[in-house]
Amino acid sequence: MLDSFKYLGKRMQMVKFLRTQGIHNEKVLGAISRVPRHLFIDSALENHAYVLKAVPIAAEQTLSNPYTVALQTQLIYPKEEEKILEIGTGSGYQTAVLLELGSKVYTIERQKELFDRSKQLLKKLSYYPKYQSFGDGFKGLPAFAPFDKIIVTAAAPFIPRDLKEQLKIGGLMIIPVGKRDKEQQMKMILREDEECSKVISLGKANFVPMLEKRQS
Ligand code: SAH
Repeated sequence: MLDSFKYLGKRMQMVKFLRTQGIHNEKVLGAISRVPRHLFIDSALENHAYVLKAVPIAAEQTLSNPYTVALQTQLIYPKEEEKILEIGTGSGYQTAVLLELGSKVYTIERQKELFDRSKQLLKKLSYYPKYQSFGDGFKGLPAFAPFDKIIVTAAAPFIPRDLKEQLKIGGLMIIPVGKRDKEQQMKMILREDEECSKVISLGKANFVPMLEKRQS
């Protein structure tokens, strides 16, 4: 399981294209240029690794479009040493991108198959999240809260209260909200103080649904 010059070249082309699509944060682009996305998907689909589209992974889930990963990452812009909570580990790709930026990553996945696979793969590729949880993202990880930033990679029907409460004052969360595809909106939540948070809508989104309770 190796990276290769062929895929490095394709990755650099993808990064160039992402730049034309409004991804301008060089650190985020740098992280994306270093993570071998083709290793996070089934080898039969490797050829689709570096085009801007979502790719199916196990358990009827998808690895988000690289543009979406780049955009969400750019929006929360995780800095070195910041504590980031990710909801929806999936393939582990977004986790790897966050780790490339030097942040401390805590991640939750509700599907056992994906939890096990991503755990193995991240280790194999020498990516070390602080904590990988098999659990329910609606509940967050109270034992490790508060977090500087929270990134949700599945569409939630509402903004989960537990997640909002696990944000640091001054922290921010990026989350697609909405039930059906065409109603989903990307939202940014800024926690201003104990009681107040500001919600900003950032336009349409298209994610698999966030579902309650973990599933073995
Ligand atoms: N970040 C992932 C994208 C995966 S798609 C990647 O880079 O591959 C969204 C993921 O969210 C799926 O793996 C799905 O199983 C997971 N998910 C859905 N509802 C969840 C919940 N309540 N808690 C945790 N994970 C959830």
